[in-house]
Amino acid sequence: MKEDTHKADSDDEDSWALYADAGYGQSDEEVDETPMITPSEEEVWYDGDDFEFEGATINWDAPPCPAPLGIEHIIRIGCCDFCVQRLSGRRTVSKGEEGGKEIRKEAYQRNSELESSIKNNLCPMCENLFDDIDNIVTRIIDKIGEVDHSTIQLGIHLPKDLVEEEDRIRTRHGSPGSAPLKPSFVSQIQSKLSNLVNEVTYVKERPDLMILVDGLTLMVEVDIRPVFMYGRYRKLIRNLPQTRWPCRACRGRAQGCESCNETGLQYPDSVQDLIGEPIRLSLGAEDTSFHGMGREDIDVRCLGMGRPFVIEIKKPGTRLANLEEIQKVVNENGVDKVEINSLRWSDRREVVKVKESRSEKSYTIRFKVEGALDEETAIKAISSLSGVELSQETPKRVAHRRAAKNRKRKVVSLSDIIVEEDEIQFSVRCEAGTYVKELVHSDEGRTVPSVRSVLGDKECTVLWLDVEEIHYE
Ligand SMILES: [Zn+2]
Ligand SMILES: [Zn+2]
Repeated sequence: MKEDTHKADSDDEDSWALYADAGYGQSDEEVDETPMITPSEEEVWYDGDDFEFEGATINWDAPPCPAPLGIEHIIRIGCCDFCVQRLSGRRTVSKGEEGGKEIRKEAYQRNSELESSIKNNLCPMCENLFDDIDNIVTRIIDKIGEVDHSTIQLGIHLPKDLVEEEDRIRTRHGSPGSAPLKPSFVSQIQSKLSNLVNEVTYVKERPDLMILVDGLTLMVEVDIRPVFMYGRYRKLIRNLPQTRWPCRACRGRAQGCESCNETGLQYPDSVQDLIGEPIRLSLGAEDTSFHGMGREDIDVRCLGMGRPFVIEIKKPGTRLANLEEIQKVVNENGVDKVEINSLRWSDRREVVKVKESRSEKSYTIRFKVEGALDEETAIKAISSLSGVELSQETPKRVAHRRAAKNRKRKVVSLSDIIVEEDEIQFSVRCEAGTYVKELVHSDEGRTVPSVRSVLGDKECTVLWLDVEEIHYE
């Protein structure tokens, strides 16, 4: 039994977005070599704040980078070559670590005592995180494996106190405009990764792969984002649920039980799986979520052009597929039960659109009437319902899962009434959300007016119902 975890999934996406957006994508341009602040001999950089660092009091006589004294200061407090380059505001021939080495070398040449005065061998700006880049990149490549992708969004999670401390030191001693830790780290990973994988675009939203790196534990998580397809399905048989229906006896537990043949399912088939399984297999995916534009009751067929749906394919191994081919395979798999048309690629936004759509629907319904009927009178009475506004209390049959409320729904048109002894059949087009069975049997007077009421309170029992058309697009 596979769980429908769509909701949890979107929550995940939110938390991913939080990680991913944090400090990501900001400018990491270097500033011009010309110092923005000209250090002067008389200027005293002291604000009364004694900064204890590894037991030593730091000399505040250091202006910010790119002034040479500022660069000496960040070297003295133990900045690594990556961070020296990042904070210095100097243009260097090489970027990153190599550039930092150049700057350090120049500083040692200017001040022969600088090297021996370094106070720390753990970089206070990154805690030597940049040394782990190769390791992290290897882990990312391992995790991605064979999974098909063309876009990546990279997020980095760093301890809050490190980020705050880094920000404090950088603001005070770094060159104005130096790149913060997170974006620098992210772009460093990206450039290493780009040397090793082909044709990947880094994006800030809707990636194929979401990669999260934990800067503390160096754990790498790769989240394969789902793909979506839109189509319309026709349900050709009754007693087929739209989505998987857990076994009532065992509540759909993974191993199932005797009464469900160890499937965990009340019904072996569902529209979701008849369509979704062939798609899942052809994309090498883990699971699917099914989002229909409403749903018909289990005993109701859905004909015409069919019901629009968006299927979410989770953790696909490949993101490329021939949709014409897939549609064919689905229709072969679902033969005489379910068929689909109009299959195309879609996205999460369309899930919302499909769920919120309020399309009118046309039905054919057949029911049995108790007591004697005069054909002409019956047709006239039922015809009178065409164009009326119904007042419908939440039906008893759905009251356990829907809030009780009264809704007004319009019967747009009603036609093709056929009376055959004690059975009547007609076609009806209604506003979205109309309870059509209730329109016939009145649900003990909860739907007003109803076929039952216009027939002089004769009991009506619905025999079958078909959705003939969903008027969408
Ligand atoms: Zn560093
Ligand atoms: Zn069971």
